[in-house]
Amino acid sequence: MKSPIYMDNNATTPVDPRVLDAMLPYFKEKFGNAASRNHEFGWVAEEGVEKAREQVAKAINASPKEIVWTSGATESNNIAIKGIASMYREQGNHIITQVIEHKAVIDPAKFLEQTGCHVTFLPVDKDGRVSAEQVREAMTDKTVLVSIMHANNEIGTINPIKEIGKLCKEKGVIFHTDACQTFAKVPIDVEDMGIDLLSCSGHKIYGPKGVGALYVRRKRPRVRCEPVLHGGGHERGMRSGTLNVPGIVGMGKAAELCFDNMAEETKFVGGLRDRLKDKLFSQLDEIFLNGHATERIPNNLNISFLYVEGESLMMGFSDVAVSSGSACTSASLEPSYVLKALGLGDDLAHSSIRFSLGRFTTQQEVDYVAERVVTAVKRLREMSPLYEMAQEGVDLSKVQWAHH
Ligand SMILES: *Cc1c(COP(=O)(O)O)cnc(C)c1O
Repeated sequence: MKSPIYMDNNATTPVDPRVLDAMLPYFKEKFGNAASRNHEFGWVAEEGVEKAREQVAKAINASPKEIVWTSGATESNNIAIKGIASMYREQGNHIITQVIEHKAVIDPAKFLEQTGCHVTFLPVDKDGRVSAEQVREAMTDKTVLVSIMHANNEIGTINPIKEIGKLCKEKGVIFHTDACQTFAKVPIDVEDMGIDLLSCSGHKIYGPKGVGALYVRRKRPRVRCEPVLHGGGHERGMRSGTLNVPGIVGMGKAAELCFDNMAEETKFVGGLRDRLKDKLFSQLDEIFLNGHATERIPNNLNISFLYVEGESLMMGFSDVAVSSGSACTSASLEPSYVLKALGLGDDLAHSSIRFSLGRFTTQQEVDYVAERVVTAVKRLREMSPLYEMAQEGVDLSKVQWAHH
């Protein structure tokens, strides 16, 4: 078993060797500019780009013409949110999103607020879900865009995207979803789900970093987006700039590998995740699952270990790479805004750890990590007077602490 162990696949995934192999020729002999229309070098590069467009489109039942290449999901989200708000300004200036979106949706929405847009940030329930009913109630005749993520990156909860999409279709409102954590891993059908715009990223699917895509619906309705970058008019004018050909080829290959093996991978990764979960829950008391119990992506396990502090816990097994609920906005020790939005108190939010498994996780690693975590939690709790008091039956919420 190799050390350190990687269990942070919701943050990024390693590049699959098959993806790297597909990319390499495009760094070497196939180096052409895909926009060079008058020679072989350009045609070869363009061929690679168009094949990748088909591979990405296929994973969401879209047409290749509807795929716009970007530098990643942050950019895709920016184009979708700012591009739609600006293009449809005449029709209305109201946008609906929710409080536990990725910052790459929240921050563009907040930016729009400064420019006079009205943004509704819907609350989520204790599992991190938004309902179509909530979206319906928030809609006004000025609503031009609804942006609700497919699955949350911290807690893994999946939203009822199809119901929300259906509602948006009914009301004639454009619907965007950030599908970084589900693209090519969970079934997505933009037709069936009523999705008009969808963001995804290469590095969450065992592809390279710095490449992503935005699906933009071309008919029923034809959606138009004001560009964020102005330049040569590439990508139907929605995203200018010379294409990152090796990255795009890699993302296409990565999407194909995920999509073609979706059922097997879901079973494999989900099985390992459940094994880890069972091992932890059978050996430790006072631990709590964050996010929805069943409506969640197969590779994510987010747990709060009451009476221990997430950062200290992580130091207790420093040969395992995971994320803690307080470290997400790395520099600060603010507990995660996602966990707070679920209604968790500071104690539970500060004691949370996200384990995210992947294609290259092994059962041996899962067993090792479970043992390391159990040992570390028990050791920290032995030193915790609060845990001791709770074990003795003291109701900590009723304790009158002395103030100095
Ligand atoms: C990773 C992630 C992003 C950002 O994607 P980049 O390609 O790194 O810009 C956005 N949203 C979600 C849900 C993510 O998981």
